[in-house]
Amino acid sequence: MLALISPPVVDPRSTYLGSAILSGHLSRFQVDHTTRDANLDFFDWLFTQKTAEGYANASNDALLRYLSLELEPAKAILKGNGFFDVQSRNKARNVLDLYCRALSVVFPDMDLRLHRFSYGGIERSAKLLSDALRSEKPNIFHDYYEYFLRTAQSDLEERVAVSITNSDQLFPGLMLGKYLKDRGHEVAVGGACVTKLREHFLSKNSFSDCFDVAVFFEGEEAIIKFALSGTTAFETTGWANFVVHQGRDTISSSYGKSLKPSSWASPKFSNSETKKALRPKNVLPILTSKGCSWGQCTFCTIPESSGAGPELVRNAVLQNSVSCIERLQRDNDCSNFIVVDENFPASRQVQFSEYLSSKKVCVNWLAYARFEREFTNENCLTIRKAGCRKLLIGLETTSNRVLKLMKKGVTRKIIEANLTAFRKSGIAVHLYGMVGFPGQKLSEAIETLEFVIQWLRSSENALDSASFSEFNLNTSSPIGRDPASYNLIISSDRNDDIISSTYHEADGSEVTDWVEFRKVANERIVSEFGERSMVGWEEYSLLLADRCDDKFRNFEARPRLTVSTLENHDIRRHEVRSFETCKHHKQGYLLLNDETSQSMFVSRALQGMLDHTPTHGSAASLFQRAQAAYPNLTEEAFAHIMNGLARNGIVAITHRTQN
Ligand code: SF4
Repeated sequence: MLALISPPVVDPRSTYLGSAILSGHLSRFQVDHTTRDANLDFFDWLFTQKTAEGYANASNDALLRYLSLELEPAKAILKGNGFFDVQSRNKARNVLDLYCRALSVVFPDMDLRLHRFSYGGIERSAKLLSDALRSEKPNIFHDYYEYFLRTAQSDLEERVAVSITNSDQLFPGLMLGKYLKDRGHEVAVGGACVTKLREHFLSKNSFSDCFDVAVFFEGEEAIIKFALSGTTAFETTGWANFVVHQGRDTISSSYGKSLKPSSWASPKFSNSETKKALRPKNVLPILTSKGCSWGQCTFCTIPESSGAGPELVRNAVLQNSVSCIERLQRDNDCSNFIVVDENFPASRQVQFSEYLSSKKVCVNWLAYARFEREFTNENCLTIRKAGCRKLLIGLETTSNRVLKLMKKGVTRKIIEANLTAFRKSGIAVHLYGMVGFPGQKLSEAIETLEFVIQWLRSSENALDSASFSEFNLNTSSPIGRDPASYNLIISSDRNDDIISSTYHEADGSEVTDWVEFRKVANERIVSEFGERSMVGWEEYSLLLADRCDDKFRNFEARPRLTVSTLENHDIRRHEVRSFETCKHHKQGYLLLNDETSQSMFVSRALQGMLDHTPTHGSAASLFQRAQAAYPNLTEEAFAHIMNGLARNGIVAITHRTQN
């Protein structure tokens, strides 16, 4: 028997595809197994009154005590009909996010948000990750894994496979492996993140006490062998894509071997696990291909780690994907799907749509795509009629010069033509912008931001949205493998880098604070266009797709205060610098300036207070402590913060704690 576990921390709404596909594969070969979504279970445990009260009592934290009473109602709203009311939904989400932030003060190395997680910068350094895994310092996963093992121990199988798909799961996933190994289980780790870091898993000294077997690329064959192998030493003949550290020996296979798409299993989701997700209805992921048919973008790691083998992409038979949707509709009561292919090309979307229509399968779906000429008016109408509600597309930039440097294979003309076709057919779009690509000028980034703002302003589709991220030098991307050709000098230790490297441009050209630019850009978008552009919104937006035919009716889209413009970008940087001089070296700033957006103002101010105050008391004493942290804070400004808190649904903090 084998247990498939998806570790924290991803998102309290997401259902894992990796474990579901492995479960489908094991079922096909009649291999006994169980599945556990420890990500959803972690949030389910975290967002309980009992857990919160435990942390409130241990830290004597009034804010946590207050929030402990609000967690269960917030969960109920997001899982029930209250979700469809914009005010209730926002209040619930803010309560849970604030609770995550407050816990991040209790565990200072941890930065937990509702949609992301990081831990002491370990995602950048193998040494920091190794040290953290061996540290005795309290962290929230010690508490959760104690609970997990207590509740699961009686039926937790001797062999366990932990699937680590993204970098936020790396520390908790390896820690779970170590926990289980220390308690006598045999552990396999695999998933896209393990594949990306395979050089570290191959060497014996890095994380080898967290697993017995590491599986790279596709895990289907290795996991069956792992489940069925003898008990003392793994009999590895015939295995593919793995490394085993046994005693002093390291046994590894060649890797990169891939199953034929016709052998891919369809995913098997457990209803008892998916019902823990924070959403009122199921939204399930499906996969119709691996790899990317374009595969040339210079910043992208997909072609290297997707396991597509020598081809750029491997495609499932689309009739099978439609049959899979029919089965999930029936077995899991699901009519909302995310096609999680790295890139679902227009021609395949049209084919997929024709199969859906011919079989009269009525579902809503969204997919990741790239701009391409084939998104014609006619093709867009076909896919919209078959239930496509939204496409998530990497715009990156509108500058033809930078698009060429990135090898995106598109021009601004194609982008504009595609956006017009999407709009005419009623397909919404999320645009992912990227800033800080090597050689990109500030003026080019501003031009892209302005393009996005104008496009959103002219939108009639309430699901249209956009966000920006900054360029990361991923070690396994084409640029990461050959930085000198892109005029970059690596400043970190390449042997220690795990996901990305730090670097500077060789010619010392224009230096822009791209992290700050990204924050300002996103804040400006959220401030003007509301929650639909918030990180992690995609699944939620699909649930509202049939309820927002009136423009923005179901979204918090009213402008708050006008957010700072890029013209005062320098002022912001000055403020950030001055604030960094505080002894905690926390980034953050309190701009007492009406041009600052309310949400930034509130969240940063509150975070600052939390950072500086071990406990929380009355509003008056909160003000005194806030003043200690921000010497220039006036009563008027403090009232402004409290108003902001009220608008964000947390007014009771002041009322309940007032002496
Ligand atoms: S960024 Fe997208 S389109 Fe470009 S290679 Fe990667 S997956 Fe393909």
